[in-house]
Amino acid sequence: MTERMLRFVGLEQELPEKRPAAARARDFHEIYADYIADKAAAQAARCSQCGVPFCQVHCPLQNNIPDWLKLTAEGRLEEAYELSQATNNMSEVCGRICPQDRLCEGNCVIEQSGHGTVTIGAVEKYLTDTAWARGWVKPLKPIRLRDEHAGVVGAGPAGLAAAEELRRKGYRVTVYDRHDRAGGLLIYGIPNFKLEKDVVARRVKRLADGGVAFKLNFEIGRDASLADLRAKHDAVFIATGAYKPREIEAPGVGLKRIVAALDYLIASNKKGLGDAVPAFESGALDAKGKHVAVIGGGDTAMDCVRTAMRQGAKSVSCLYRRDRDNMPGSLREVANAEEEGIVFEWLTLPKAFLGRKNVEAVRIARMRLGMPDATGRKVPEEVKGSEFNLDADLAIKALGFDPEDQRALFAAPALKVTRWGTIETAPATGATSIDGVFAGGDVVRGASLVVWAIRDGRDAAAAIHKYLQARAPAARLEAAE
Ligand SMILES: Cc1cc2nc3c(=O)[nH]c(=O)nc-3n(C[C@H](O)[C@H](O)[C@H](O)COP(=O)(O)OP(=O)(O)OC[C@H]3O[C@@H](n4cnc5c(N)ncnc54)[C@H](O)[C@@H]3O)c2cc1C
Ligand code: SF4
Repeated sequence: MTERMLRFVGLEQELPEKRPAAARARDFHEIYADYIADKAAAQAARCSQCGVPFCQVHCPLQNNIPDWLKLTAEGRLEEAYELSQATNNMSEVCGRICPQDRLCEGNCVIEQSGHGTVTIGAVEKYLTDTAWARGWVKPLKPIRLRDEHAGVVGAGPAGLAAAEELRRKGYRVTVYDRHDRAGGLLIYGIPNFKLEKDVVARRVKRLADGGVAFKLNFEIGRDASLADLRAKHDAVFIATGAYKPREIEAPGVGLKRIVAALDYLIASNKKGLGDAVPAFESGALDAKGKHVAVIGGGDTAMDCVRTAMRQGAKSVSCLYRRDRDNMPGSLREVANAEEEGIVFEWLTLPKAFLGRKNVEAVRIARMRLGMPDATGRKVPEEVKGSEFNLDADLAIKALGFDPEDQRALFAAPALKVTRWGTIETAPATGATSIDGVFAGGDVVRGASLVVWAIRDGRDAAAAIHKYLQARAPAARLEAAE
């Protein structure tokens, strides 16, 4: 948020000069702890009801933002909540972690006219948190019970949204996940300072209380094949995410204390959840007292640098081969990280990792942006003779993720995948090349966003319902014969 906006919405305590250095690394829920009804109403009242709801168009769920802002401004909070949750299975999650600057808020006409966006995400979070606190969030109750059974593979936001929608329609639903907790990257990827884990856990509990069965520590490909699952269920939704980390090729990359971003974040999240994590306790995945270098420029890299700072690192540097304007991550995240004291080494490339057993330094070359490539993006090229060493006793690789080899993983040669390794699906329905098998979320889009995963889960649930309804009479006839 810009300084002007902070003053405008009454968050002066967040102005950099008002914050002592030790308190710079504050969490989302701390910043918005005083986001009370009159502040939400004041923000909501700033919506000009412009009649061209670009905010709504640019929300992947097409949330009816102007209408629930109007209700909030009028103090009709329960109605505002009802409207906001009608299109979103996890409004309080999206309110916290959507990159609003690229979606709804970035397209708010008030923002476009230079007066600072209506803080749509914060109002959305406030409405749903209030709904939970005041008991407005209703239990999940199927409209009517149906005989058909759907299997959902993956308990991330795509899988959870699909499970909720299918259960609401009355299907019997089982969600399978290889982890010991449901939530996917909401639990084990995104850090607690952006998204508190109990916010996710209460969503999962609501589904379980509503009759959705969870089979955890169950890996498709190890404990069952896709064919086993298809035989067991009338329809299957695959929402297994994208987990294959992109690798760095440089001498010394095999040294100890050079770790993958997700290993680092999972350890930190597990620790926060109270689990015993030997690799954290041994110091291998703990940044405390260390010089930390994070390589990458996306949101995962931002989560790593900000986690390292909170763990008490001696210094944290982010190495990215392009410049600030070309960062793939949200600029709001970069601004947060800068404010917390993270050093950004723009236009740098790790050439080698130095050390005996553990990494001790990263050898870095400076880059400059050269001619644009076929996509129009300027290609970084190395500046000769610019190399220097940066002290690092923990290096974190955060270069992004690709989907794993789904066909091999699921032992399903008939499952069509794209040349990027994502599962090929029909637009809007998520239908795959195998009858009765649907897919959505990161495993289809590649590494994307929570809000898109929710959208895919909702779309797939609607398509599965249609599929099961279309074949219901035939299936009944078959059963009767
Ligand atoms: C560090 C990090 C930070 C992020 N921050 C943000 C953010 O701030 N805002 C945002 O919008 N997005 C963010 N994202 C992206 C977002 O988390 C994902 O786009 C989203 O979670 C994708 O949802 P999904 O349901 O498709 O997959 P996931 O959330 O990845 O869930 C997939 C689930 O499938 C399970 N699974 C995988 N394979 C199998 C198998 N064979 N058998 C059984 N279970 C299996 C996994 O255990 C996992 O629980 C972030 C991602 C990362 C990595
Ligand atoms: S879901 Fe995300 S993009 Fe849509 S209104 Fe909420 S915060 Fe904005």
